[in-house]
Amino acid sequence: MQNTPQIVVAREAGACYGVNRALDLVREAAEGEGGPIHTLGPLIHNPTVVAELESKGVGVVESPEEVSGGTIVLRTHGVPPAEEKSAREAADRVLDATCPFVLRAHKAAERLDAEGYQVIVFGEAGHPEVLGTLGHAREPLVIEDPSQLEGVEVGRKVGVVVQTTQSRARLRELVCALLGRADEVRVIDTICEATSLRQAAAAELAGRADVMVVIGGRNSANTCRLAQICGESCARVHHIEVAGELEASNFEGAETIGVTAGASTPQAQIDEVCERICELSGGELAPEGER
Ligand code: SF4
Repeated sequence: MQNTPQIVVAREAGACYGVNRALDLVREAAEGEGGPIHTLGPLIHNPTVVAELESKGVGVVESPEEVSGGTIVLRTHGVPPAEEKSAREAADRVLDATCPFVLRAHKAAERLDAEGYQVIVFGEAGHPEVLGTLGHAREPLVIEDPSQLEGVEVGRKVGVVVQTTQSRARLRELVCALLGRADEVRVIDTICEATSLRQAAAAELAGRADVMVVIGGRNSANTCRLAQICGESCARVHHIEVAGELEASNFEGAETIGVTAGASTPQAQIDEVCERICELSGGELAPEGER
């Protein structure tokens, strides 16, 4: 007879500090009397949460020019100063949900720029967080991969700030590539641990699970990366956005079912998915101490 399947949630999973803070700010504003509320782009890469906010009157716009009055919310990714200025001109009120860790990167870029360093932002070109940080220095350079430094002129004094989701191993590679090219290299380590902790916990769990369920938007880069990491050591990975996507056949023969979730997935969604897995698999949630 098959043992009762154990459902194990990764030690670190789901919404990070910055996302929870942004959600609290917006939900609180939606309950108030401040007129229409618009987020500049979807608040987080989670269609379920975006739809829930929409039902509470929180719309999404792509630029401040689409708004007249009411409240504009700046997302966790942050924005360049020029965009914040436009938001303040267009709306009656600006709610700044920029994650404090991203604000730290903005301040680092400003400080390095003021001290005469050529600012290098190490991250994905075109990512909203990187665009926001670039706006805080005068002539910054964005580098996605250390190999891109080949053939690029850098200043004598170089100051590096890092997209919060980068890995430290890659930052080390960048710093090595800069040595010998500039006389002075100053690094402000603005990496946030939330992403790497979630990835390490997912990898550990996937290594001992028969099936892994990864919860989060298909448009969320960090969730897709979690699914990819799980796929490296577990052959049965299901990346879902909502509990309804799961079927009993997903768990056939599984004794350990692992669950993880991207940094844009609130705890309530994780709980809902775990409940559904219990129903479909006949399993039980492993006590927290045994996860
Ligand atoms: S991953 Fe880190 S930097 Fe990004 S929103 Fe979450 S806490 Fe902030």
